[in-house]
Amino acid sequence: MAVISSSTAALAERPAVDMIDPFGRAVTYLRVSVTDRCDFRCVYCMSEHMTFLPKRELLTLEELDRLCTAFVDKGVRKLRITGGEPLVRRNIMQLFRDLSRHLVSGALEELTLTTNGSQLARFADELADCGVRRVNVSIDTMKRDKFKEITRWGDLDKVMGGMAAAQKAGLAIKLNAVALKGVNDDEIEDLMKFAHGNGYDLTLIETMPLGDIDGDRTDQYLPLSMVRADLASRYTLEDIPYKTGGPARYVQVKETGGRVGFITPMTHNFCESCNRVRLTCTGTLYMCLGQDDAADLREPLRASEDPAVIGAAIDEAIGRKPKGHDFIIDRRSNKPSVSRHMSVTGG
Ligand code: SAM
Ligand code: SF4
Repeated sequence: MAVISSSTAALAERPAVDMIDPFGRAVTYLRVSVTDRCDFRCVYCMSEHMTFLPKRELLTLEELDRLCTAFVDKGVRKLRITGGEPLVRRNIMQLFRDLSRHLVSGALEELTLTTNGSQLARFADELADCGVRRVNVSIDTMKRDKFKEITRWGDLDKVMGGMAAAQKAGLAIKLNAVALKGVNDDEIEDLMKFAHGNGYDLTLIETMPLGDIDGDRTDQYLPLSMVRADLASRYTLEDIPYKTGGPARYVQVKETGGRVGFITPMTHNFCESCNRVRLTCTGTLYMCLGQDDAADLREPLRASEDPAVIGAAIDEAIGRKPKGHDFIIDRRSNKPSVSRHMSVTGG
């Protein structure tokens, strides 16, 4: 007699993906920014003096759960909680706890988060207990002083402690580093050695023109094609088809045995394979990180308990998902491509 394993049974119960955009791309990945607030002020992300949303504008955790659930019902398989700093939102573990039921049912393949690591030591065990298996930690330098310079308010030792706690809790770690010209371009190799030495992946990101910051992005922008060429002059990089559901393209580094991912929104537009949409903490859905067009899901969410109402609003939004972004960073156009900061839509 054939035995149906519990995971096979769960697969059979999964909802079909019914979010297909006008360009035939299936939307299976939702990123949710649960707060626009943060305990850091990274120079490429925010200005030092930010005006954050009044708390009353935010969706409650129950409302965020309802919206995420609506997306899972429509075929989202991967949910990333982000921000701002997601772990500074009060009671955020309640949302992880609630969403973990979709992992148990098999409807969701992965529940994960992107964090600056400042609160990770406190929450790592509970995250693991909620079924989180991987965490992205953003760290752009291994030097304490530089870390303070980049994050303005951050403490590198705390982040290191957070990563150690996450590893102890059994979470796989991926380091995210934004490559910044004249800031950390001399440290990419050290970041890679640290990551691979600890069994972490490293993903490098090109800085994107999102929101006004205090400085000039033209000064910071470093094309990853240059970083890759530099690494390739000293290491053997082998392209591999490894995917985590996001836009990174990975290489295996022969000498370290680890992986490096490249997220290249500027030098190589990866929109043709985009499978994501992004929800803000006020219930606004951005169908593209680099475009202003959005859909308000808060109004239908609050208007009716009927899942069909929110389902219809999601369908309408997916029907407007644009083909791609048009990011430019150069001296002539050094204004942001979109006015909102990365912390609003989340990374
Ligand atoms: N606070 C969390 C953190 O830093 O990981 C989550 C939110 S943060 C907006 C997510 C990611 O976006 C981080 O890895 C950060 O380095 C990256 N990021 C922020 N602003 C960016 C920008 N303008 N261009 C490229 N990446 C950016
Ligand atoms: Fe905060 Fe993350 Fe933005 Fe840094 S990148 S200011 S940690 S939201």
